[in-house]
Amino acid sequence: MSARTEGVPVELKLMSAGYCVHPEFVTIRGGSLRTAAYPAGFALIRHPAQGWILFDTGYSARFEALTRRLPYALYRRLTPIRYREEDAAVRQLARLGIRADEIGTVILSHFHADHIGGARDFPNARFLYPEAAYAPLRRLGPVRSTRAGFLPGLLPDGFADLATPIERTASWTPLPGPSPLIGGWDLLGDGSLIAVSLPGHAAGQIGLLLHASDGPHPAAPSRAEGPTRCLLCADAAWSSLALRENRPPHPAAGIVMDDRRAYRDSFALLRRWQAADPALVIVPSHCREFFPIDDREVPLR
Ligand SMILES: [Zn+2]
Repeated sequence: MSARTEGVPVELKLMSAGYCVHPEFVTIRGGSLRTAAYPAGFALIRHPAQGWILFDTGYSARFEALTRRLPYALYRRLTPIRYREEDAAVRQLARLGIRADEIGTVILSHFHADHIGGARDFPNARFLYPEAAYAPLRRLGPVRSTRAGFLPGLLPDGFADLATPIERTASWTPLPGPSPLIGGWDLLGDGSLIAVSLPGHAAGQIGLLLHASDGPHPAAPSRAEGPTRCLLCADAAWSSLALRENRPPHPAAGIVMDDRRAYRDSFALLRRWQAADPALVIVPSHCREFFPIDDREVPLR
C-alpha cells in the first residue's frame, strides 16, 4: 500500500456543546452502573484557504424542543441531556469572535442528535455528509426515526436538496501515513480533510483524518515533529480508554446501534490503525480526555 504525501495542515480546536448521561457500562466493557457524562464533542477547524469549518455541531436547545412529545420524547428518556443555552456551538464561536455566517462548511459524521443538533445555526454553510448515513433515514416515519436516533427537525430546511453527499462529489484518495484502510474521500481536494468510513454505530458513519498544525489538545501533545496526524473517529469508539484497553461496549448494552458486527469491525480497525501508526491521535467524539467536563456539573446517582 503506498501512502500519499501529507495534506495541508489545518488548525484544530476541540469543543463540546452539552452532554448526555448514561450508565457507564453502556459505553465500555466492564463499566459500572454509575451514571457517567458524555460530552457532545465537535471540532472547529481553520483551513488556510477555506476558512472556518465544523466537524459536527453538538447539541442545541432544539433537541429539547423537538423531544417534548412522543415518540421523540423516548429519545430524551434514553439519553437524558444537560445543556445550557450558552453551550451552543454558535454561542461558543461568538465568544471566540467567529460569526455563524463565517462557518463556510459543516461536515456531519452521522445523523444522531448530539452531532447535528446545532446544524440550523449555520445557514450559510455548505453541508457535507455521508449519503450512506442519510439515505436509510430520509423516509422514516417518527417512530422509526426515533429508534434510529434521528430528529429530522434538527436539519436545515431543504437539507436533502442543498447538502452535498461526499460519496458523489469528493475524489477517492490513498491515506497519508500507515493505515489498514486503503483510502478515503478527499473532501477539499487538497488532502487536508479526508473522510473515512467507520460504520456500525450508525450506518455510513464517517471519521475525519487531518493534520493539526498545533496538536489536538494539551492532554495529547504532538508526539512527533511538525503537525499531528489526527483521526476524529466520531462514535466508532466512545473513549480513548476503551480503545487502549480493547473494551468495546458489551453487546447486551441497549445502545442505539445500527449494526453491531460493523461496529466491532470499525472498533478493531481503529486499534489496528493505532498499532500501525503510533503517532496518530484518535479522538472519539464523547471522550472526556479530549472534551473535559467540570465534574461539579455532573449529577451522579
Ligand atoms: Zn452517535
